[in-house]
Amino acid sequence: MLTPEIERLAQTPKLLVALDFDGTLAPLVDVPSDSRMTPAAREAIDRLAALPQTHVALVSGRMLGDLRLVSEAAPDSAILLAGSHGAEFDLPPGHAPIVARVPSGQVAVRTREVETALAGLDGVWVEHKPFGFVVHTRLANEDNTELAGEILDRFASEHLAGWRARGGHDVSEFSERAEGKDGAVRALRAAVHATAVLFAGDDETDEDALAALAPNDVGVRVGSGVTSASVRVADAHEMAEVLAQLADARTNFRSA
Ligand SMILES: [Mg+2]
Repeated sequence: MLTPEIERLAQTPKLLVALDFDGTLAPLVDVPSDSRMTPAAREAIDRLAALPQTHVALVSGRMLGDLRLVSEAAPDSAILLAGSHGAEFDLPPGHAPIVARVPSGQVAVRTREVETALAGLDGVWVEHKPFGFVVHTRLANEDNTELAGEILDRFASEHLAGWRARGGHDVSEFSERAEGKDGAVRALRAAVHATAVLFAGDDETDEDALAALAPNDVGVRVGSGVTSASVRVADAHEMAEVLAQLADARTNFRSA
């Protein structure tokens, strides 16, 4: 099902393919460090990244080191990485670096406090991030999930004024920085001088980037949920098919 949009996108002079990782390239799993992209997604992005005038970026809420690990990026990989929703970047040699931000001392303090507040709730755990924290409830029962939500709401209103809150699939993230994936895509687009962008994501945080795309870009929403994307696919497996189609069309266009 090669859509006209993918066909058209394949013919842009300089293409940026910017992709969320979890739920988009990698099926969602219970243990975040176990997350890996599907073999078909891996093959498609490696093919795209090897094409001339074609750049692939992973744009994730994960911190950079963590994203590097789960994406199994080779040290000499041509893939651009944006972590922490675009507060951290790792670009291959040849690209001007995008300046990283420095977290304040508040992050560690608030993360410890929230851990204490949620201690004892089975299945609820707190992930430390450079600019904040994420509360995970995927392994918690309904009661503990609800209780965690109430505790978090209270904690946020008392201690996290000015922080950005983001919801997602069984996660609540709080960050002292407001950077979103829209800013990440903007910075990556400029870094590679892209003439068009494909962005794909499966979660609320991806909608920041999807809503900010230009008319000749293509947005893909993976799974259900309200979206500004023009293309929707069911899951990471279908997403890999779209990427393979884009790689085919781009290869044909480049060799025509
Ligand atoms: Mg995701």
